[in-house]
Amino acid sequence: MSVFSHNEFDNHEQIQFCHDETTGLKAIIAIHNTNRGPALGGCRMWHYASDEEALTDVLRLSKGMTYKSALANLDLGGGKSVIIGDPRKHKTEDLLAAMGRFLERTGHQYIAAEDSGTSVPDLKVMGLETGNVAGITERTGIDGLPCNGDPSPATAYGTFIGLKTAVQYQLDRTDLTGLKVAIQGVGNVGYRLAEHLHEAGAELYVTDIHQEQVDKAVRELGATAVTQNEILSLDVDVIAPCALGAVLNDESIPLIKARVIAGASNNQLAAQRHDLMLRERGILYAPDYVLNAGGIIDIFYERIGHEHNKVRAHIETIADTLIEIFQRADQQDRPTGEIADELAEERFMK
Ligand code: NAD
Repeated sequence: MSVFSHNEFDNHEQIQFCHDETTGLKAIIAIHNTNRGPALGGCRMWHYASDEEALTDVLRLSKGMTYKSALANLDLGGGKSVIIGDPRKHKTEDLLAAMGRFLERTGHQYIAAEDSGTSVPDLKVMGLETGNVAGITERTGIDGLPCNGDPSPATAYGTFIGLKTAVQYQLDRTDLTGLKVAIQGVGNVGYRLAEHLHEAGAELYVTDIHQEQVDKAVRELGATAVTQNEILSLDVDVIAPCALGAVLNDESIPLIKARVIAGASNNQLAAQRHDLMLRERGILYAPDYVLNAGGIIDIFYERIGHEHNKVRAHIETIADTLIEIFQRADQQDRPTGEIADELAEERFMK
């Protein structure tokens, strides 16, 4: 298995392969860049088909965190960790504690948060062995309500701010009354985004593989239910992908009628070139990792003293970053995703 010559290596500072014989723990901690501060990113537990697959995933995700935190103006670097194993079968308290001990050995260079396959209680077990965990403190959420550490409300709020900014820029409207928005996936983030939009007067179209989520949006928010196949090609103003990655691709882009794409899901572009394809079709793409940074902003404040009004104000700066990206993209006639990457690099490279 190649590491330094791996396609996704991309100047990682440190990669730690962790093995604990007693508990069977096998994990990888990847630290991409710490120029702005310690690396913060989720600890994922997944039943990877091979060690190579786990390495590729952790390297890709870790780099993504460097870009996200830099664009969110946080004093954080980028890192991620993966535990190799099926969370439903292999997760034990002893294994999580062993992971906590490995986190401690990074010497505060990497801080782990919850991710797919790990939960707040899991991170609390790791936290018995190390201070290098985040997103576990009960606090007042950005909506002023008690929060157990789940960053989704903050992510949804940031996505809403980003969506409004993109609509103002592209469609020249500040009033969202009657704005037609199609939301793909009404889970933790998508449903809360739908609530913000409903409150602002938008007309919602929703789909999800879980029918009860769709029914709730129809019942509580007056949304119109549509099929998974038609969501991206609806005659609406905005599409908000909040479920899966790679939904903007060769098949879907030619069918899109909306003029704005603004959603929370990670890695929406199937390939980098789809960024240009959207621009050529006159569709404004609000880069996903700029919009969905609310969660990492929320977790960052947990470490420096959480005050929900400050978190909210910081999340609202997503609007300024987006405007800078949109304006640069227009001045240079280049796609927004490419500009976002460039701006992030300006902020984290020395
Ligand atoms: P979630 O699992 O709670 O919600 C996703 C929803 O999408 C689920 O209801 C699921 O049933 C639905 N879905 C799955 N496949 C679908 C399909 N083919 N068509 C329609 N719906 C489908 O996840 P979430 O926490 O709401 O996160 C949504 C996206 O945002 C993910 O890509 C995630 O990586 C990203 N994100 C989330 C956060 C956060 O704070 N939760 C932060 C950053 C990024």
